Amino acid sequence: MNEQMLQTAVKRLKMSGYKLTTARRTVLNILCRHDEHLTSAEVLTLVEAQEESIGRASVFRTLDLLTELAIIRPTYLRASTPHYIVMPKNGHHAHIICPQCSRVTEIDDCAVEGLLDEWGEHHNVDISGHVLELYGACEECQ
Ligand SMILES: [Zn+2]
Ligand SMILES: [Zn+2]
Ligand SMILES: [Zn+2]
Repeated sequence: MNEQMLQTAVKRLKMSGYKLTTARRTVLNILCRHDEHLTSAEVLTLVEAQEESIGRASVFRTLDLLTELAIIRPTYLRASTPHYIVMPKNGHHAHIICPQCSRVTEIDDCAVEGLLDEWGEHHNVDISGHVLELYGACEECQ
């Protein structure tokens, strides 16, 4: 469980004026506990296993709301179905996808923050986060 990630997400939800309902808490818990990319179908299965009272529609509404608030972001990996990631406190998520074997390499350190801040200034936007997808052959596929 990534506790800090969960606390940040809950805080942002409340700051946007939303209550922490059972559905929202459960979905966020699951996404933060897995700390990785999950599809909506995977989230649904995990929610059902944990909290039977939460309906399917409520899970999808929650994913939509969290996406709208940029607390989570969809990212496309192997399939046309998006995987959801929780935006961490520093707003950075970057990974490299190998187009040959679909291996995903997570990049923890951020090398582009300065550049993005400059971009933000240029467009009069206070940049608070980014999701980057890079593509390239992994070590084994080179
Ligand atoms: Zn990733
Ligand atoms: Zn590869
Ligand atoms: Zn970054």
